[in-house]
Amino acid sequence: MAVYTLPDLPYDYGALEPHLSGELLELHHDKHHKAYVDGANATLDKLSKARHNDDFASINQLQKNLAFHVSGHVLHSVFWTNMSPDGGSRPEGGLAAAIDEYLGSFDGFQQQLTQAALNVQGSGWGALAWEPMAQRLVVEQVYDHQGNIGNGTVPLLVLDMWEHAYYLQYRNVKADWVKAFWEIVAWSDVASRLARVRDLQLV
Ligand code: FE
Repeated sequence: MAVYTLPDLPYDYGALEPHLSGELLELHHDKHHKAYVDGANATLDKLSKARHNDDFASINQLQKNLAFHVSGHVLHSVFWTNMSPDGGSRPEGGLAAAIDEYLGSFDGFQQQLTQAALNVQGSGWGALAWEPMAQRLVVEQVYDHQGNIGNGTVPLLVLDMWEHAYYLQYRNVKADWVKAFWEIVAWSDVASRLARVRDLQLV
């Protein structure tokens, strides 16, 4: 039985146009995200068989695949809800105050996340995350889906910089994709994610 399932988008495929085309969003959700869900489930099955047969010959590849596919599923699931046809503008309330407190200013944060996203080497993401040891916000640059991140950090706002996320619409001009993303950020979703995770105690 499948452990992971592909979530429905919280809006129609064309709802984020012109910033994100319906054709691109449909492909991204229905094909790419689904592949991570399927990959995560398949890898769990293979690990179960490995334990059952006491055959761990492929353990390194299976553990790598588990991290890759589960992280891909997590990030895309957060990503869809981070965007809204009613998004854009700036955060308010507790989220705005936290950005000012931990990252200096909204403009500085926005510039850091933009640059982290634009300068990913290869495939990856830019992310605003909650770091529960220091209990503060951090900006992270994620490689693939699972590299270069702090253990225990919780993604609050994520920006997909894989070529499949923008190439169909923006070709090689990824700065235009990042600019468009800022126009559709659902700050209320980011704020509610922060509120839910602020009291998380790792130790
Ligand atoms: Fe993606």
